Amino acid sequence: MNVKPLLIIPLLSIFAAYPAFAEQPEDYNFPRECTTTKAGYPVPLCGKPLTKTPVIVKQKGDKQLKKYPEHFIPENETLADNEMRITVVGSGNPPVRRGQASTSLLVELGNGDYFIIDTGGGTVPALWSLRIPLASLDKLFVTHLHFDHVGGILNLWDSMGWARNTPLHVWGASGFTPELGVAAFVENIQRAGAWHTLSKTGVIPGGGMKMVAHEFDGQQFTVEKPQALVYNENGVKIYAFPVDHILIGAVGYRLEWKGLSMAYTGDSIPTIFEAEQAQGVDVFIHELFIDAPTFSEKNSMPLKIAESVVNEHTSADMLGRVFSIAKPKLGVGTHFFTNEYTIDPAFAGIASTYNGPVVIAQDLMVVNVTPEQIVTRMAKTDLLSWAAPAPRAKGKKRPKLDPAPTEGRTQSWVTKTRFKRGKTE
Ligand SMILES: [Zn+2]
Ligand SMILES: [Zn+2]
Repeated sequence: MNVKPLLIIPLLSIFAAYPAFAEQPEDYNFPRECTTTKAGYPVPLCGKPLTKTPVIVKQKGDKQLKKYPEHFIPENETLADNEMRITVVGSGNPPVRRGQASTSLLVELGNGDYFIIDTGGGTVPALWSLRIPLASLDKLFVTHLHFDHVGGILNLWDSMGWARNTPLHVWGASGFTPELGVAAFVENIQRAGAWHTLSKTGVIPGGGMKMVAHEFDGQQFTVEKPQALVYNENGVKIYAFPVDHILIGAVGYRLEWKGLSMAYTGDSIPTIFEAEQAQGVDVFIHELFIDAPTFSEKNSMPLKIAESVVNEHTSADMLGRVFSIAKPKLGVGTHFFTNEYTIDPAFAGIASTYNGPVVIAQDLMVVNVTPEQIVTRMAKTDLLSWAAPAPRAKGKKRPKLDPAPTEGRTQSWVTKTRFKRGKTE
């Protein structure tokens, strides 16, 4: 019996019934209808930011406030000369979830600069979907070396590398011993990539296959000198300061440019010290953790282990206290498990110690900061996105390929049996 018609006809009828399926994958960004929680916050994954204050007016003047579309669509908006856009690329924890990857931020400035801060596991697909010219994504700052903050570095190094064709620059602190610092981490990653790098030599340009560590002294900080200027170019100043996260070498960053500012502290048990380092910034992004009983129950984790993890992090009421001292114009809680039932208790906890504007981050939440206002939205990106067009500088020659390795290649008795490309026999 010929079975072909039986297989083909039902498949064709499925595609005919859903012609839009292959055309608009971006529609699947927000799978939930925007109902609200009991306390009136949008439910996660519905396309609205988790906040009641999506627009904050910093200063009222004669100037008409910039109006933004409901969603941020990559390539549809250009930044003003004095505008900053912060995207929470990943808002989650070590367990990488389909709707919430680990931790990563992108800071874009109106002068054309891009800064990635942390690149946790699972976060690079979202970064890639923002359609940024890949050569621009060459500056990574890491807060600390937990994999939920650096686990995406292989993807960042690799998937952006061919188009970048220049090294990936990585800033971070030294540790208590040399092997605990960012320089050793970068060196070891490159060593572990020996097969990967050699196999691509002669196939794609090699300039993007290098990483350069910019390690700063993680033990230089004192009460008298609490922060250090670790980047100062193109009018952008980035300061590092220590945070209380288990080992020496965990830091937070404060970025300042054209009177706009943001701070991000990575992971920490909050301290008055770190709150002071972020004093008065426009946007202060700080970790937030769920309570131990929920963490234990939902992750099937013994309560004792859940408690020891939770005790290294920031509870909702502690986050409110941090924001009360730092007084940011917008406080952002991230590194949180954003399930529908965790949102209300978190906002209630924060509100018990703080009454300023707060948002809890989701993946691809976008915050635009100008001298006049701070606007929070969700980005809508293509789930099947391609690389962004890369403008080639005039007169710049196409990079040459390095010679491919001649030794250690696949055995000749295997390659002799290769199919001939384009031939049927
Ligand atoms: Zn973390
Ligand atoms: Zn950590």
